[in-house]
Amino acid sequence: MNRIVENIANLRLEIPSEVKIVAVSKSRSVEDIREVMSTGLICFGENRAMELYSKNEEIPEVEWHFVGHLQTNKVKYIAPFVKMIQSVDSFHLLNEINNQAEKYHRTIECLLQIHISAEKQKFGFSNEELFRLLEMPKLSSLQHVRICGLMGMATYTNIPALIRFEFRQLARLHQQVKERFFPESPFFTELSMGMSGDYPIAVEEGCTMVRIGRDIFGR
Ligand SMILES: *Cc1c(COP(=O)(O)O)cnc(C)c1O
Repeated sequence: MNRIVENIANLRLEIPSEVKIVAVSKSRSVEDIREVMSTGLICFGENRAMELYSKNEEIPEVEWHFVGHLQTNKVKYIAPFVKMIQSVDSFHLLNEINNQAEKYHRTIECLLQIHISAEKQKFGFSNEELFRLLEMPKLSSLQHVRICGLMGMATYTNIPALIRFEFRQLARLHQQVKERFFPESPFFTELSMGMSGDYPIAVEEGCTMVRIGRDIFGR
């Protein structure tokens, strides 16, 4: 077996089948992506709009997720085809995604990114900012975005207790937001947390999606 196929087989042993694996393919070649697809995994995550745009030209059959900081002026390049934007971190961005999706008669699935880590530089809403957004009356007028859940990145650390604490906080927040703002929604179901270093903890804390790069493609 080649390395990528073997890596995926190992991940599948550890990750329950209900948890969706998003293969984070930033800076990886189209050949490597095809290798992953040969195992039946069709969902890929990218963090640069132009890289995603050009990869989609070559392999449009992929289910593409955007997982990085997205500038509003780049939304137009990916709006025609992107399935989910996991890293929505402002109302301004959500509004632009809605406008672009409308142009293409599409609905784009979105996750709201929450700042859960102890590091300053990571993007995302604080809990207060999140509640402020969800209380905005304008939100319900955005007919071309569908808020499907929350995403977060834990602190890059070798202290498992800290990672677990952060994921647990995010899972609690997800539950609260669901009860308060989306009680009847069949769509607000996703909790995207866990990467190569920390996905076993994320799985234990109830994630529905993991985003894995290095443990699939190599270091
Ligand atoms: C790069 C990246 C990942 C994957 O990281 P690995 O450590 O390679 O698994 C997951 N999520 C986001 C937002 C990323 O930018």
